[in-house]
Amino acid sequence: MTMTYDEFKAQRLSIDMTRGKPAPEQLDLSRALIDDAAAAGYLSRDGIDCRNYGHVLGLPEARELGAQWLGLPAAQVVAGGNSSLELMHDALAFAMLHGMPQGEPWARGGEVAFLCPVPGYDRHFAICEALGIRMIAVPMHEDGPDMDRVEALVAADPTIKGIWCTPLYSNPTGTIYSSETVHRLARMPAAAPDFRLFWDDAYRFHHLTDERPASPDIVGACTRAGHPDRALVFASTSKVTLAGGGFALLASSPRNIDWWQRCVSVRTIGPDKLNQLRHVHYLRDRAGLEQLMERHRAILQPKFAALDTVLRALLGDVPDVSWTRPKGGYFVSLFTPDGYARRTVELAAQAGVVLTPAGAAFPYRVDPRDRHLRIAPSCPSPAQIEQAAVAIALSLRRALDEGTKVLDPARAA
Ligand code: PMP
Repeated sequence: MTMTYDEFKAQRLSIDMTRGKPAPEQLDLSRALIDDAAAAGYLSRDGIDCRNYGHVLGLPEARELGAQWLGLPAAQVVAGGNSSLELMHDALAFAMLHGMPQGEPWARGGEVAFLCPVPGYDRHFAICEALGIRMIAVPMHEDGPDMDRVEALVAADPTIKGIWCTPLYSNPTGTIYSSETVHRLARMPAAAPDFRLFWDDAYRFHHLTDERPASPDIVGACTRAGHPDRALVFASTSKVTLAGGGFALLASSPRNIDWWQRCVSVRTIGPDKLNQLRHVHYLRDRAGLEQLMERHRAILQPKFAALDTVLRALLGDVPDVSWTRPKGGYFVSLFTPDGYARRTVELAAQAGVVLTPAGAAFPYRVDPRDRHLRIAPSCPSPAQIEQAAVAIALSLRRALDEGTKVLDPARAA
């Protein structure tokens, strides 16, 4: 060990690792969206004046671009506003208030519950909490959620209306759902006839290695399994172009798209088509998107590698400590021995490195084993990542040392 915790703290650094934000250099990749904004003009391919109201399901060419990315017909793809999280929130709010197609409002039937694979995405859980949807945690395994548990719960309990799924490079574990998992999710019998997969494909193109696992066609799989309306797919350009400054996608069955149109038309007269037009000009097609994603990868991959190298050097010998080496996405999950996550985050904060609060990746912010840390290495510089990794390792070691002292009073003296 080259440095002690106290020596690290004395440097008085300040590094923010709380959220998976793109780094400024990543945002610079899409400067053309700002610099050449005027070049895209305001007329769409078909002569739609993008300065004006209308087209609540999005600009046709933006829907077609989304359809190319998601591998579905454009008629089944909506190009919405600036955030996929907003679409997820609205889909759940619409379901609670109005019901899914031909179903009664979820809120009318009393209790509504959702399955939440854990560790998972804190903002998914925040939506459930805000809308009064009870969250039931299910363990996340190497190949996706624990399907034996999921199948048993969904088959038995009609109050379970859905499950959160991030099928590729899950936030925060980097999990890639196996095709077996995907097919079980599509096929499984559900006690609730209006059960839904909230399929958050946020990291569909966000690879960190040469592998290119395809995100499965869940809408097709559900249709083939006799549940054509089961999947609602969400994605966005937030981590492709500008975070919160692009457009989001919703894809589903024709019936769900009609339902969405009915509900969303009350909420808005239409999305920002000018921004959609600029994005279509800038990204062009699937190849344009993939080239850009390669440039993101070139910036991100060394940061993930630096984190892993430091953790291996400083924590490799500590029993019961492990961390993920994701092949894509924006996060690393670090598992401490039971009972040490909260204290590690506290100590890291005192040493100048702010991490996502311990427990954030669990419903109601409670990690029952207090052992999970979410690390977001995208935004800080590579040098800061190395420093942050040192801080995390030293903080965990300090926490373990404190714990040993408590267990062994002789050492506390
Ligand atoms: N889903 C997941 C799994 C995410 O990690 C994020 C961003 N951290 C989002 C959605 C948010 O996407 P958007 O900007 O499109 O709302």
